[in-house]
Amino acid sequence: MKIEIIDLDFMDTKQVIASFLLLAEDGTSVSIVETGPTTCLDRLRAGLKQHGISHEDVRQVFLTHIHLDHAGASGHLSELLPNATFYVHEVGYPHLVDPSKLVKSATRIYGESMDELWGEARPVPEDRIVILGEGDETEAAGGILVAHNTPGHAYHHLAYLEPDSGTLFTGDVAGIRLPGQSYIRPPTPPPEIDVEAWVQSINHIREINPASLWPTHFGSYEDVERHLGELEQRLQDWLLFVEGQMDEGADREEISDQLKAKGDAEMLAEGADTSQSEHYDLAGSYPMLTDGLMRYATRRREKS
Ligand SMILES: [Zn+2]
Repeated sequence: MKIEIIDLDFMDTKQVIASFLLLAEDGTSVSIVETGPTTCLDRLRAGLKQHGISHEDVRQVFLTHIHLDHAGASGHLSELLPNATFYVHEVGYPHLVDPSKLVKSATRIYGESMDELWGEARPVPEDRIVILGEGDETEAAGGILVAHNTPGHAYHHLAYLEPDSGTLFTGDVAGIRLPGQSYIRPPTPPPEIDVEAWVQSINHIREINPASLWPTHFGSYEDVERHLGELEQRLQDWLLFVEGQMDEGADREEISDQLKAKGDAEMLAEGADTSQSEHYDLAGSYPMLTDGLMRYATRRREKS
């Protein structure tokens, strides 16, 4: 199969959110990995058209998880793509069928910006959805895709391996990395992040041993072990940093500012500049990442 990236131009910005197209060599069947948000729907449709794909040609839509930047357009697409089946983890399934809880939870994070960022999330009919779990293989675009449970960023997260090429679609589990950069920013939004599970998922990816990582934010990268090592190290380092700030009595805003200063210094050390930091913010901003880490740290302490 052939793999193409559609840049969804999220918030009129290049290379923030990708949708991936899987094309059979004989042109007969097409699959999509990630829909992007409803606000990018026109861009997705334009991308399909550019590749000569009709709405009827699309047979499958694979979702890594149901966050609105990855799967928000699913309901609209179920209306537009008459032959497409939607694939998702079982814990994501009820939220595709009825997105109201998901929208409520996202509204707590994004408030008044909900419409501008994500647009409307419509339900996907139950009979159009198939649940996938660890190791499940699905025929797609003349080959197969293998689902892998990869919790951590979200409990219900799947990564998809295309075994012939060793391509792994990593959703958010391999972090945020923008083209031309080596820097990996861990997306740690509330409410579900679990750093311990995430590190196990990184080890799971090492066992899968892919040839390349394809994060939704954004592109494809072949320095797999270096990439995963940096992500693992930074996740643990940022958690300790946030815990340390909490111990000193810093509030959320102070911690977010401190984390940004730390993250920007790390980017500079890797050769990036602060304008790239703003680009990364579109996929995961510091106030949101701080909220997720603080919540995880608090819950972890309550448990121990
Ligand atoms: Zn996400």
